Amino acid sequence: MTKFSTVLVAIDFSDSSDNAFQMARSLAENFAAQLLVLHVINEPVDLRGFYVPHISFERLEQEIEEGAEKMMESFCHQHLADFDNYQKLIVSGLPYEQIITQAEENSADLIVLGTHGRTGLDHVLFGSTAEKVVRKSKIPVLTVRLEE
Ligand code: AMP
Repeated sequence: MTKFSTVLVAIDFSDSSDNAFQMARSLAENFAAQLLVLHVINEPVDLRGFYVPHISFERLEQEIEEGAEKMMESFCHQHLADFDNYQKLIVSGLPYEQIITQAEENSADLIVLGTHGRTGLDHVLFGSTAEKVVRKSKIPVLTVRLEE
């Protein structure tokens, strides 16, 4: 039987990725695997005030990183308080590239992500990150659809 030792879950703080996260966590628990919780700060950076309410241009990059750290901290506090075997990862770049790179660099044997994310294109089968990761990753990918 295949045993997963390291499961990487990619989260963009959408309902869809929350749902995928639950699946990843339960797989990690069942296989006694390490859970890598990855968020990618979109580059070119998302300037619509998602991470911080008021953008200060001098400290933009730092504020965005701090905002992302806070969101990750609060996410893990809420969802992983009773689970020790996890690591948080926040990196900048193109989400699909970083999801694959981080999975490879950290020797993940499974990538879990939602079929859709914050882009909200519900009518398409896969969001663009999900589609690219599925097409390009050599590591197996589990996509999880959120049923409304
Ligand atoms: P999308 O293809 O952008 O609609 O998103 C599909 C899934 O990819 C989401 O549910 C997340 O699991 C993952 N994802 C999208 N963007 C990011 C990101 N910036 N950081 C980490 N994971 C992401």
